Amino acid sequence: MSAASAGSVMDVAGTHSAEASDIALLANGEAAPATGTPDAPSSSTSATPSLPEPLVVSAFDSTAENAQSAMLYAGTEINTQREIAEEQARRPKVALPAEGTFTSGFGMRWGAMHAGIDIANANGTPILAATDGVVIDSGPAQGFGNWIRIMSDDGTMTVYGHMESLDVREGERVYAGQKIAGMGNMGFSTGSHLHFEVLLDGSQHIDPVIWLAQHGIYLAGAGSVEGSTSSPFGS
Ligand SMILES: [Zn+2]
Repeated sequence: MSAASAGSVMDVAGTHSAEASDIALLANGEAAPATGTPDAPSSSTSATPSLPEPLVVSAFDSTAENAQSAMLYAGTEINTQREIAEEQARRPKVALPAEGTFTSGFGMRWGAMHAGIDIANANGTPILAATDGVVIDSGPAQGFGNWIRIMSDDGTMTVYGHMESLDVREGERVYAGQKIAGMGNMGFSTGSHLHFEVLLDGSQHIDPVIWLAQHGIYLAGAGSVEGSTSSPFGS
């Protein structure tokens, strides 16, 4: 009977379809796997990409991040080095050795040669290196109480006298504007002041006022007091 054959086919196909054309297709043998196919692959396709994807992406991300931060770090280091170089290029090559009142100039004074200039200010006023260079003396010296001598790279020597405190040692490299000492009244001195000398080629004394002016630094009052014999201060 056709009803019996239809019933047996319906067992295989389940309740899916009672139509003769559908049953014929399902009866082919490939019909049963075909009905399961839409379900199984759909669940696997939805699960397969979603699970590995975040793992792969995060792995790539951390690698990329490490590479990027390494590049950023290298870039920062290069920028820092460039900034230091630019800062050094901008930095003045000559600095005023101390703030204060110009009290005595370069030249003959009281029948003796005053080989430098005097700048008076309070005890402990910062004394700054006038040039980049190497400290060749830092300590006690006859007449100066304490002195510091700095030999610059171009052979100009600067001398600082009477300081009450010394911040640098012999052999130390300093830069123009760096604090090297505190002003004082040591040695042959009648008041807290800096005695400052400039020697070309390390031996020939020149007027520090002129030398400073040649480097764009002008001492207030230096023009009128230069060569004065009325200074209350000593060497
Ligand atoms: Zn002096």
